[in-house]
Amino acid sequence: MTTEACPLSGDRSSLFFESKMENAKYFRCPRCEAVFLSRENRLSAEDEKDRYSLHQNNPKDQAYRKFLSQLQIPLLERIKDNSSGLDYGSGPGPTLAKMFQEEGHLMSNYDPFFAPNKAVLKKSYDFIGCSETAEHFHNPDKEFSKLSEMLLPGGILGLMTLLLKENENFELWHYRKDPTHVFFYTVGTLEFIKENYFTKLEIISNRVALFKKSSYRSFSLFLNTNP
Ligand SMILES: [Zn+2]
Repeated sequence: MTTEACPLSGDRSSLFFESKMENAKYFRCPRCEAVFLSRENRLSAEDEKDRYSLHQNNPKDQAYRKFLSQLQIPLLERIKDNSSGLDYGSGPGPTLAKMFQEEGHLMSNYDPFFAPNKAVLKKSYDFIGCSETAEHFHNPDKEFSKLSEMLLPGGILGLMTLLLKENENFELWHYRKDPTHVFFYTVGTLEFIKENYFTKLEIISNRVALFKKSSYRSFSLFLNTNP
């Protein structure tokens, strides 16, 4: 197959890069400008979990904390004291939530493999941190709908994922080579996400972006009600 539907926008995407040796085909979406791994080449959930278990992240690791501070600092500058937050994709050594707790915020963790507590997905939050997770999304459309829904009006999603630059050598790009990385974002993809799920976008760096949800509650319930 030389085309595949984009898991974010649904648009028909054409082949962007193929590695026969790695058995990997990537497609590029003409609408949201994301690049994604073919569904046929994704790992099984079991193999995926095994890969994540190799990650050595933990809250005592100072280098890892410094890495996460790229996301934490811009979020801290924009949230109120005692905010409620969720670390979405907290991984095997949850650290981001701990860092926000130390600043006085009330935190929850969610991870489909390591903290599969679905009850936390039914609550609403002032902010959500999503660090090194969105590149693993198999269904980014569903994920961003859910993330937006979980935010209170005016809430912020802090996303950390390495952006794919226009002039990147995709074949050699280290970020591509992790077989659990299936969806890559460009600046155009961030714009698409803002347009479809949020109201404001701030790009902080080549790996950190903030999305803000509208401060007003949706009136759709009223519009749909017959008099
Ligand atoms: Zn797309």
